[in-house]
Amino acid sequence: MSYINENFLKLQDSYLFSTIAKKVQKFTEENPDKKVIKLGIGDVTRPIIPECIKAMHKAVDEMGTQEGFRGYGPEQGYDFLRKAIVENDYKKRGINVEVDEIFISDGAKCDCGNIVDIFAKNNRVAITDPVYPVYIDTNVMSGRSGKFNKEKEIYENIVYLPVTSENNFKPELPREDVDLIYLCFPNNPTGTVLNKTDLKKWVNYAKEHRAVILYDSAYESFIGEKDVPHSIYEIDGAKDVAIEFRSFSKTAGFTGLRCGYVVIPKSVNGYTEKEEKVSLNKLWNRRTCTKFNGVSYVTQRAAEAIYTQEGQKQIKENIRYYMENAKIIKQGLEEAGFTVYGGINSPYVWLKVPDGISSWEFFDKLLQEVNVVGTPGSGFGPHGEGYFRLTAFGTYENTKEAIERIKNWNIR
Ligand code: PLP
Repeated sequence: MSYINENFLKLQDSYLFSTIAKKVQKFTEENPDKKVIKLGIGDVTRPIIPECIKAMHKAVDEMGTQEGFRGYGPEQGYDFLRKAIVENDYKKRGINVEVDEIFISDGAKCDCGNIVDIFAKNNRVAITDPVYPVYIDTNVMSGRSGKFNKEKEIYENIVYLPVTSENNFKPELPREDVDLIYLCFPNNPTGTVLNKTDLKKWVNYAKEHRAVILYDSAYESFIGEKDVPHSIYEIDGAKDVAIEFRSFSKTAGFTGLRCGYVVIPKSVNGYTEKEEKVSLNKLWNRRTCTKFNGVSYVTQRAAEAIYTQEGQKQIKENIRYYMENAKIIKQGLEEAGFTVYGGINSPYVWLKVPDGISSWEFFDKLLQEVNVVGTPGSGFGPHGEGYFRLTAFGTYENTKEAIERIKNWNIR
């Protein structure tokens, strides 16, 4: 008999995006004359920049020659890309990261999800709420949660850290001991950020508790304000306690190409039951060599091209385009009288829905009355109730039109 991993049975089905799709489809069928504008998606819409396309063409041609052909590559990634990351994403910011502390992957979702492999089941996990659901679900799958409490809409044994307007979207340190802490800034879904003082508190906590911070900075490239840290390693001591996840998905439109990386400094340790220190870099390297074949050569050449002078110019133009949309959304909603968060250092705008209606009721009204689609905050966790996410990844024209409609809207 084959026995299953029963932790999977604890998982709640995520109906968020499928419910949105169904509602939009029904509305469109019933109102074929209405132009529905979708500002709900978390996927990019601008094409891959020419510099990356050029690099891929070249790499493809190389693969067809005897000298340029590449078979299995290094599981951790090619040195040309790891070096480009070290130089550009870290050294230029005054951060010293070594090449063998970088692991190239097929994206931050897989890294954030797979990292749980190297940690014991009995770690106590703290996760901000609302949240990118991968952190929670992968801990449920690997047995670090209790059952789902339907009334509270939370999993038992997971420590939820509310991130709402009441605490200015800055999670408070847990009162109990936790061992693994997921932080994501700029945050999805709230679009808010932490400053260095806020992050320092978490680094200190992790040091005191011998905990590890799993820092997701997938949206780092959207940071526009000077005092916002791009990397957790800008904080003194973070190299002893933090793992950082990065992605080329939003930075360079790689959601379809697939490439990202994780930084595991050699100075970050976990502990055996006997409290012996073990380097997490070593464990992750072992896992990577066993379970991963690396990202394709062609894709890694594309990622490398992001760091050329021309590549930087081109991706910055796309980021500027999206951030112009974010500005239009934020300013327009404010003019329309909404309270709005995010949208300055992030492509996500998080708005407070009017008192007396839920996130889903707001979704329905927005769809039916102005034909605009967003994402209800409650879909990201219980503390997302009362909020709503709009994204800047649409086209400029659609974003402008959607916001004009909202500005002229007499919400009924
Ligand atoms: N982390 C966060 C917070 C995200 O919002 C996303 C994607 O939406 C990811 C990670 C996944 O990135 P990738 O496409 O690199 O898997």
